[in-house]
Amino acid sequence: MIDIIVIGAGIIGSTVFYECTKQIKNVHLFEKNHKPGLEVSGHNSAIVHSGVDPLSNTLKAKYNLMGQAMYEDYAKELETPFKRIGAFVVAKNEEECKHLDVLEQRAKERSIPVVRYSVHEAMTLEPNLNPNVIAVLDMPTTAIVDPTHLATQAVNKGVEHGGTVHFEETIVSIQPRGDHFEVTTTKGIYQAKVVVNCAGLYADKIEALLGEPTFYLEYRKGEYLVLSENLSLVSSRIIYPVPSPLGKGVLYVPTISGRSLVGPNAVDVDSFISQPIQDEAIKDMKVKMNHLLSNIPYEKEVERFVGFRPRVNQDDFIIQEHPHVPNFFTLAGIESPGIASAPAIAKDVTTTMILPALANRR
Ligand SMILES: Cc1cc2nc3c(=O)[nH]c(=O)nc-3n(C[C@H](O)[C@H](O)[C@H](O)COP(=O)(O)OP(=O)(O)OC[C@H]3O[C@@H](n4cnc5c(N)ncnc54)[C@H](O)[C@@H]3O)c2cc1C
Repeated sequence: MIDIIVIGAGIIGSTVFYECTKQIKNVHLFEKNHKPGLEVSGHNSAIVHSGVDPLSNTLKAKYNLMGQAMYEDYAKELETPFKRIGAFVVAKNEEECKHLDVLEQRAKERSIPVVRYSVHEAMTLEPNLNPNVIAVLDMPTTAIVDPTHLATQAVNKGVEHGGTVHFEETIVSIQPRGDHFEVTTTKGIYQAKVVVNCAGLYADKIEALLGEPTFYLEYRKGEYLVLSENLSLVSSRIIYPVPSPLGKGVLYVPTISGRSLVGPNAVDVDSFISQPIQDEAIKDMKVKMNHLLSNIPYEKEVERFVGFRPRVNQDDFIIQEHPHVPNFFTLAGIESPGIASAPAIAKDVTTTMILPALANRR
């Protein structure tokens, strides 16, 4: 009998698998794709946020702050790149300046280092800022990673610890059988003591295998354009507007691979089936970005991609043991800051929920 089955090799399932294998060898990770990190974890801005944005008393705030504090060492442990390039949050008018005040105050309360600049001060550091900007909040702890590489490294190291990974194997049924679960995949039937649902956009469908799900996911699409690797940097930092209720807005992000991203937009959609990105959407993002940053060489566009945020209506992560099915854990609704939070979620959930459940069950 398997001790722990983890479903999904996105950044969340891969790091949970890695953390579990530090303590126990008999851990199996199932992923329907041929490698880790190809779904939500491979289609995002890849930013390790400072932790200033999530509202207080949420799991998003708790894990973002914990993740930000541990990320540099965690990336070293996993031998994956991590670059603390910093971010400027940019205000274009007095109303947005009031929001910068709120972020600055929250940063102080959370001991996050920030510096407020006038546009003239900020332009000495980032000369391509739009001169119509009126104020900037510098967040020097903001960093970038490669989430697909991080997930891959977590899986590889979990396997080195003795864990087992099953690629191209989809979970299709989960039956509670008293003291264990019978888990059916497209390739076989397995018995497991504990099951951990990290299925990203499919997490509600996995929970529905046990009966009426305790939550439903909604989807918010985010589209990007990618500028080429040979680009001399327009900005060495991430540039983003004052966040709105829909999210952080359209960003400029230098990536680990040396490319730059412009995006994402935020459009609520009924399904996550990808459709071609409309030129109108790209045009709209360019207009928004031009209010923040000038001289972006859009002729160097090499690619476009789309990501889907898995959302729940409580607007926070769901991290819970199933209310009616003991030893079944769900990590769902993991939208932003899921990348920033992943190491903290994995460590905390493994040590405070999964391993104690396994020990008590024995
Ligand atoms: C546009 C956008 C921008 C974002 N920007 C940021 C950011 O800058 N910083 C940040 O912190 N966060 C960001 N996020 C959020 C972040 O990307 C997610 O929180 C994170 O990637 C979620 O990871 P996951 O492992 O939960 O999901 P996924 O990466 O989707 O992993 C789930 C895995 O489960 C597998 N799976 C599903 N069903 C089954 C099954 N039945 N059997 C086997 N396997 C299955 C899937 O194939 C998939 O690989 C962004 C998200 C989006 C969409």
